[in-house]
Amino acid sequence: MVSKVTVKAPSSTANLGPGFDVFGLAIDAFYDTITLTKIKSGIKIITDDNIPTNPEKNTAGLVVKNMKKKFKIKDGIEIKIKKGIPAGYGMGSSAASAAATAVAFDKLFGLKLNGNSLVEFAGSGEKASAGTVHYDNVAASVLGGFVIVKTNPLDVIRIEPPTNLRMCIAVPTINVPKKKTKVSRGVIPKKIKLSDSILNLSNAAAIVAGFMKKDPEIIGNSIKDVIVEPARQHMIPGFAKVKENAIKAGALGVTISGAGPSVIAFSKSSANLKKISLAMAKGFAFTNTKCQTVICKPSKGAANKRK
Ligand code: ADP
Repeated sequence: MVSKVTVKAPSSTANLGPGFDVFGLAIDAFYDTITLTKIKSGIKIITDDNIPTNPEKNTAGLVVKNMKKKFKIKDGIEIKIKKGIPAGYGMGSSAASAAATAVAFDKLFGLKLNGNSLVEFAGSGEKASAGTVHYDNVAASVLGGFVIVKTNPLDVIRIEPPTNLRMCIAVPTINVPKKKTKVSRGVIPKKIKLSDSILNLSNAAAIVAGFMKKDPEIIGNSIKDVIVEPARQHMIPGFAKVKENAIKAGALGVTISGAGPSVIAFSKSSANLKKISLAMAKGFAFTNTKCQTVICKPSKGAANKRK
């Protein structure tokens, strides 16, 4: 009988511009590592990182609680969380903990759940951070690659990204509000113009086509969002300059990563990725904001890394 399982889950970027709450992409910038160990009773979280240790308030804790209940498991579980993904920066940090936990729990108890079920349990953990269940980041983090999330019923379509797709991410060193995702969802317009919805739909469709055709140019050129990005960009100091600089340096498309404040530029391996990253950092410096830049590529998911 297995009594301990360790699983790693990647960071992810949600939305990719026009695919709000629908698209996700696993990226190899950062990883969370979760170790689940069977103990006598209860749910205990151990971490050195600055995240809640109350299981109800931690995405990993909530996943364990929900899975224990669903499968009527009496054992207690100790959850060891090693964060590699900065929390609250739009890199799917809370989602990666949830994703790795769902995959580890499945393995610990030999449940052999399918991809959609793992994503469903991981998504249920997101309530601890965002206040609502949403699946874009967890789907990418569990399954890897590019994902399209359909809901009611939940069904995730996964597409293997082009091997030459590259991203430059700039993570600004600013304080993020505690309920950032909730706050940044609050600024999104409740009503949208039909012409804007058509524009976003055409770009979202083109992004899917770009992944199917394994063409980073189509993907990057379609990272255009006229609905959510304009409503949120004021929350990121220097966003317009970061975007302008990245495009000038050769990026194909630039947008907010998830709910921000990280900014992500899409490009391909043959581009001058260092130049793009530097241009983004200079954009942030325009408003005296420091940032960490990472050049990355699509990642496998937590479920693909099962030993
Ligand atoms: P992101 O997922 O982009 O990092 P969120 O705003 O969705 O940003 O999540 C970050 C918030 O979730 C923080 O307030 C953090 O305290 C909380 N949180 C709860 N559990 C975790 C976890 N296991 N890992 C990271 N953040 C967590």
